Amino acid sequence: MSYSAQRIDRARSFLKGLDAILLSSRPNVTYVTGYTGSDAVAVYTESHTDIFVDSRNTLQAQEESTARVHEIRKRWEEIYEHLKSLGIATLGIESNVVDVDTFLLLKDLLKGIEMTPLGGQLKYLRAVKDPGEVSLIREAARISEKALDEVLAQGLVGRREADIAFDLECAMRRLGASSSSFEIIVASGPRSAMPHGAASAKIIRENEPVVIDFGCTYAGYSSDQTVTVCTGDAGGEFAAAYRHVLEAQSLAIAALAPGVKASSIDKLARDRLDSVGLGAYFGHSLGHGVGMEVHEMPIVSSISKDTLEEGMVITIEPGVYLPGKFGIRLEDMFVITDNSCKRITNIDKEAIKVIT
Ligand code: ZN
Ligand code: ZN
Repeated sequence: MSYSAQRIDRARSFLKGLDAILLSSRPNVTYVTGYTGSDAVAVYTESHTDIFVDSRNTLQAQEESTARVHEIRKRWEEIYEHLKSLGIATLGIESNVVDVDTFLLLKDLLKGIEMTPLGGQLKYLRAVKDPGEVSLIREAARISEKALDEVLAQGLVGRREADIAFDLECAMRRLGASSSSFEIIVASGPRSAMPHGAASAKIIRENEPVVIDFGCTYAGYSSDQTVTVCTGDAGGEFAAAYRHVLEAQSLAIAALAPGVKASSIDKLARDRLDSVGLGAYFGHSLGHGVGMEVHEMPIVSSISKDTLEEGMVITIEPGVYLPGKFGIRLEDMFVITDNSCKRITNIDKEAIKVIT
């Protein structure tokens, strides 16, 4: 069976007795229909898949999509007519993405059709990747790594964080990415203690840690990785903390397998950092799913209810952030296999890399 047939099959498993599901989030519309553009709505039933676009996007939808393409002017009125013509009485919606105005409009418009909020479930539509998706994610990671190599070869000291981020973005695009997959983080010196320190005008000095969290989008799929490098000697406390973060990451990676609770993976890394007094400096969750979106299901955190499944692609990214001193994060991506996991990102983080 083709990947697109598998994807629509997977989407149909969410119907569970409902007549149809209406998708309005761009990644889910793309996943089910193949259309990669914007401003589309998809409706699917057990037997049909329809996509609704306006005249700006009709040709692209006809080229890309396996669904029946409808060009519409009055979006919701025409979709309602379509639902009626198919005899739809129960309709699942992506309640996590439909805005309040649209919901109120639909509530008024869709007479005789009962809407069921499926946001919590449809978030998982793309959680398990097929091999075609995994290879695109791998390619995104490969491009971003090649770009980082190029940028680091130019050196860090004396340059602004923002320049490093800009060069990285350019290199990823030149190597085939459509964009960076999120705002690149380059945080040096004490700024590295900000887990999401966007690249600033700060000049990178000697003997500073530099956290670089980066990734790109390639053919609609994202990568996400963080390295922590050093522009010389950042001191013994930094070096010791780096080893602890690395060990926390290794422990978590070694436990990755289908059937394992994501919260238990988070606990392994958190307990390791707790045991050396660093737990208080690790505030964020251990990881997240990556695919068409850079943050998607599953969630790897202490409060996650998710269980790992074969084909899920996740990050493992422990970090410690000591205010006024330094921050460290090590992030890699993995695909869960039938008995463990395979690494997707390839940068070796075993030793602290010195880049001046
Ligand atoms: Zn990241
Ligand atoms: Zn991440």
